[in-house]
Amino acid sequence: MRDGFLRRTVKRVARWHFNVELSVHRAWRRSRGERPHVVVGGCRRSGGCCEAPAIAVGTLLWSVGPLQRVFLAWQRHVNGFEVVRREACERTFVFSCTHFDRETRSCDSYDSRPGMCRDYPRLLLWQANPELLPGCGYRAVAPNAEGLRESLGRLDLTPEQREKLRKGLGLDAD
Ligand code: SF4
Repeated sequence: MRDGFLRRTVKRVARWHFNVELSVHRAWRRSRGERPHVVVGGCRRSGGCCEAPAIAVGTLLWSVGPLQRVFLAWQRHVNGFEVVRREACERTFVFSCTHFDRETRSCDSYDSRPGMCRDYPRLLLWQANPELLPGCGYRAVAPNAEGLRESLGRLDLTPEQREKLRKGLGLDAD
């Protein structure tokens, strides 16, 4: 169901909080020398990221029942996310989104979608080997792609080996 005025307002405040927290966290990671992959391409509106939105949480939220219930109630009533399963090894909740229309592959409240939907796939860029969803128009390029491409150019490889390495290392910028 489309978001009404109240829910849009609550989500706007939540988004502000999400963005501040994310900026601080990523600035901290950068200050430790971590460099994410670079995202290229654009959204093809495949809807893959809306099929099963997932949120990883900290130990406290995962293990304290009342906290978890508040979190899930928030996801349900504010974001429209209904929990469908829990993945204990990664402390992750996987949801089904009530805003997602599977036939048209579209979001009925795109303008007020949560911060995590807007951020996708940037969260994945911090992984060693980001795997974006099939059909996604974005791609992750290694942060040191230029240097790696030069090193690759100096190696004695067949075209097939070179292509495989370029793909595996996320060196294709276009
Ligand atoms: S809120 Fe919208 S953009 Fe976010 S998962 Fe649901 S359908 Fe997709």
